Amino acid sequence: MRRKVRLLHLVDAHCHLHDFTDTRIREFAEKFTIVAVSDDEPSSIKTLRLAETYDTVIPCVGVHPWCADKVTMDEVERTCRLAERALCVGEVGLDTKFVPDTIERQREIFTKFLQVAREYSLPVNLHSAGTWREVYEMLLRYDIERAVFHWYTGPLDLLEDIVRHGFYVSINVAVKIQKKHQEVAKRLPLENMLLESDGPYTYRGLELEPGLIQESVKILSQLLKVDSETIVEKARSNLARLFRL
Ligand SMILES: [Zn+2]
Repeated sequence: MRRKVRLLHLVDAHCHLHDFTDTRIREFAEKFTIVAVSDDEPSSIKTLRLAETYDTVIPCVGVHPWCADKVTMDEVERTCRLAERALCVGEVGLDTKFVPDTIERQREIFTKFLQVAREYSLPVNLHSAGTWREVYEMLLRYDIERAVFHWYTGPLDLLEDIVRHGFYVSINVAVKIQKKHQEVAKRLPLENMLLESDGPYTYRGLELEPGLIQESVKILSQLLKVDSETIVEKARSNLARLFRL
């Protein structure tokens, strides 16, 4: 029987926690409730182990679209089976912006994970660079009820469909410097907003990590003209609703 997730004041809805050092993992897991996404089978196994150690870690298993050409279909199948022990499927999705060459393989893998998400009734943590509409339509086709579009920078008219359908969008700490993402944040109702780091990753010189979330709350507060505490509380209650905590 898995332990109950402990919901802290600050939450990170998309982080590759497995990629940090043990010291930093402990530091982050003591301060944040973290949706820990995975990239492949080994990282999915590590993420599940981290969730056994820290009750603030919400484990997701999956194969990242950037890994589509690095994994065998056997590995994909084995990673799918790990979903039985997870609370979420991710990071999964499609990407024609950075890795267009493997799109057919990506579709094959993403389809498997959507089937698994439906089978276990799990939320899906999505990568959708350049494929926002296709990813959205696949969610509808596979009857996915709970989903997060991570670091959304897609079309604003599709954002309206995403919101109307009750899906979530996680605003990345890069909102500090990324104009397109600021536009998304402005159009996104607070009811559908989550906060994320996507750490560890470097975006235009910014070292992404959960520790930047408080700064991005301040930036969002100015951008949306909403007080910081309301943003923190909304991100927290939305995460609780998404994961039925
Ligand atoms: Zn990611």
